[in-house]
Amino acid sequence: MVKEQLQSRGIKNKKVVDAFLSVPREYFVPDILMPDAYTDRPLSIGYDQTISQPYIVALMTELLDLGSSDKVLEIGTGSGYQTAILAAIGCSVYSVERIPELAEKAEKILKTLKLNVSLKVDDGTEGWPEHSPYDKIIVTAAATVIPQPLIEQLSSPGTLIMPVGESFQQTLTILKKTPTGKSERTSAGGCIFVPLIGKYAPGN
Ligand code: SAM
Repeated sequence: MVKEQLQSRGIKNKKVVDAFLSVPREYFVPDILMPDAYTDRPLSIGYDQTISQPYIVALMTELLDLGSSDKVLEIGTGSGYQTAILAAIGCSVYSVERIPELAEKAEKILKTLKLNVSLKVDDGTEGWPEHSPYDKIIVTAAATVIPQPLIEQLSSPGTLIMPVGESFQQTLTILKKTPTGKSERTSAGGCIFVPLIGKYAPGN
């Protein structure tokens, strides 16, 4: 059913579909919402945060065009579901979450699933400079600008994806760095994410 759901929405990348088939989404949602785990909408995970809808997770993952040895920085671990999808593809994943309770819960689930990732509780708008540069960066919360430290920590070539815009209306923005370090931006359509809150996310 997951496979058909994704393919009917245009997700074709086999690595992405296989990762979705291997990661049990129900582990990442609160018990009371388990019956809704596979519905295509965001669900509350407490602390005013959400686990993103499956289609958006799949779309952002597909747009990153991941190689299985890519080093990926994720900002906004949340439930840990997107983190798990990246790890299931085989990437080295570094994920930053600002809410300690969410990070702790995500860490436990990822360990249960034997997915090896590096997590830390911090302001992700500052990135994770110690492990930079990253081949790919995914930000799962929205701001009016892409935080400058994240652009600096992206390798050349490299790809960053993030919702950019005002509250309740953003554009899924892809920033690609060329091998010479020049950056180019494209848009992959509208989206709605919770706010990115931190030093390099002005206005949130
Ligand atoms: N990727 C998550 C998942 O699969 O469940 C969904 C993440 S939720 C839409 C956005 C997350 O970004 C929240 O958990 C929120 O606390 C976190 N966040 C917001 N600002 C942040 C920041 N500056 N640094 C790290 N995490 C942040």
